[in-house]
Parts: sequence; C-alpha cells; structure tokens
Amino acid sequence: MKILLLGKNGQVGWELQRSLSVLGEVVALDRHTLSTAYGDLSGDLSDLTGLRETIRRVQPQVIVNAAAYTAVDKAETDRELARTVNALASQVLAEEALQLDALLVHYSTDYVFDGTGTTAWKETDKVAPGNYYGATKLEGEQLITATGCKHLIFRTSWVYAARGNNFAKTMLRLAKDRTSLNVIADQIGAPTGADLLADIATAALQQTLVRPELCGIYHLAPAGEVSWHAYAEFAINFARIQGEPLAVETINPIPTTEYPTPAQRPLNSRLNTEKLRRNFSLHLPDWQSGVTRMLMEVLNK
Ligand code: NDP
Repeated sequence: MKILLLGKNGQVGWELQRSLSVLGEVVALDRHTLSTAYGDLSGDLSDLTGLRETIRRVQPQVIVNAAAYTAVDKAETDRELARTVNALASQVLAEEALQLDALLVHYSTDYVFDGTGTTAWKETDKVAPGNYYGATKLEGEQLITATGCKHLIFRTSWVYAARGNNFAKTMLRLAKDRTSLNVIADQIGAPTGADLLADIATAALQQTLVRPELCGIYHLAPAGEVSWHAYAEFAINFARIQGEPLAVETINPIPTTEYPTPAQRPLNSRLNTEKLRRNFSLHLPDWQSGVTRMLMEVLNK
C-alpha cells in the first residue's frame, strides 16, 4: 500500500510517520518541495495546483492530511491563507482522492461547535464555529464530504506532543520562575496526545479500507475531562513529585473573560467519542495516562 502523508513535521504528522510506517510505503511531505522517485513533490497546501500535481504523481491508496493552518489567533486576520490551507486544500485532496478511489484521512476540531453548554458534543450536533479558524476547519469538512470521496475526519481538541511546545511545558517553565500563576478554569476539554491521534487514525483507516461503510466524521479524544487550570495543577504536582525545583506556590483559577484573545475560545470542548469506540471497537484511555507519559518524557524521567 502507498500512503501520502502531508504535514509530516507537525505534532500529529510526526507521530503518523511512525504509526503509518507499518502499513506500507509512506511518502511524507512538509511544505517544502521534495525530489523523489515520483518527481519533485510539493507538499505546500497553499499551492493548490502543486498539491493536485503531487497526488497525481504519487497515486496513493490513502492520503493522510496532518497539515493545517493552526495559528488560531493569527487566522482572525490572516484569513485568505488560513482558508486556503484549511478549506480549499482539503477540497483538492478530496477531489483527487475521489479520482483515485483513495481514502482521505483528515483532522478537524471541536471549534466547529459554538462551545456552549456542558454536554459532550456528538457528531450530529449543530455546528456553529465561534472563530475564523473554526469556520475554515468546518468548511474543509464540508468540502470533503461534498465530493463523495472515501474519508475519515477526526475532530479532536487540545492536542499536545512531547516534541515542540505545549501547554503543560509552558506551565512548568513558568512554575520554575513565578510564585503565582493565573490559569483559565472555565474552559473544559480533554488534552489529546498526538500519538493517540496517529495510532487511532492508523487503526481506523485499516478497518475502513476493508469496510468503506465506516467512512465518516468521528470525535476523537481521550476519556475524562479537565479545565486548563486543573490540567496545570496536574502537570505541576506531577513535576514536583518527580523532584523538579518549582517556585510556584499558588495557581489561581481565572475566567476566560480575564484572558482576552483575538479569537474567541469555546468553554465547552467536550467530545462524545461513543461512535468511534463502537464502530471501530476501540478503547480510549483517560487523558491522565497520555499526559503522564508526555511529562515523563519532557522531564527526562
Ligand atoms: P501543528 O501546528 O503541530 O502542525 C501543523 C502542520 O501543518 C505543521 O507542520 C505546519 O508546517 C503544517 N502547515 C501549515 N501550513 C502549511 C502549508 N501551507 N503547507 C504545508 N504544511 C503546512 O498542528 P497539529 O499537529 O496539532 O494539528 C493536526 C491537526 O489537528 C490539524 O488538522 C489541526 O487543525 C487539528 N487540531 C489541532 C488542535 C491543537 O490543539 N493543535 C486541536 C484540534 C484539532 P510548518 O511547521 O512548516 O508551519
């Protein structure tokens, strides 16, 4: 099997390079042009013609798109580029997947919802993005499904990886120098490991290749829920138990209204994952187990 992976160096893309490698040949691209046996391949999602040409050259059975414009606040003003990468490029991927009868695997976000209420969002709930990034991700979903190509779209939330920056690492860095931290306590979700997102996508795509009726949109996040404030407490307590010298004494819960950002953030990022677990017979671990593994890695324990 031949798989085309886009966005290979992002949090999720990096983990997909690992998880997909056991399925077959993986042609993995970042935004730069790569010289390969298939010719020069552009993996730049803002170059729609180059992207189409790449797929035609590689002729994959599976296209996995881990690339996205993920700068949520910047997207409010950098609108054209955000929409091209998150929406229009998705359409190109879907159209070409349809031509090849290939399966398109794509990621989306809980930001497609308005973030109200306290119930975990189901795939069938009404969408109403509260910021421009969410609107572009929703348009990407809609453009993919409209083509009628075989697809798996995983909506997820609060993605972290040991590699690169993440919220927990930022909290640990601040906790070393400051005695007091203010952390948002009224946004609730589940921190989702990039490794989990890659592993579940890989397992699900294998099943979908033999049972195309499994195609569709799925919510994917670990079990349980937490606020950013409780997540920060968890990371800091863990680091302290591991012997990290930390200056922080108080972690103050603050409301979202005290931390204004250009893009509005949803208060309710809970995702109901029942459909995914049932359709693919998969188990989702609680968020603490993935976060603990990540913390062990970043603390070098
Ligand atoms: P990252 O920001 O870690 O990675 C995104 C990747 O996309 C980067 O490698 C980036 O490359 C690449 N990219 C951006 N623009 C282009 C472009 N024009 N052409 C090619 N590549 C490009 O994101 P994640 O791994 O966290 O996100 C994976 C998926 O999950 C995305 O679809 C995202 O929308 C979704 N998601 C993410 C959440 C999160 O909290 N991060 C939450 C919910 C959903 P470069 O480094 O060169 O810029």
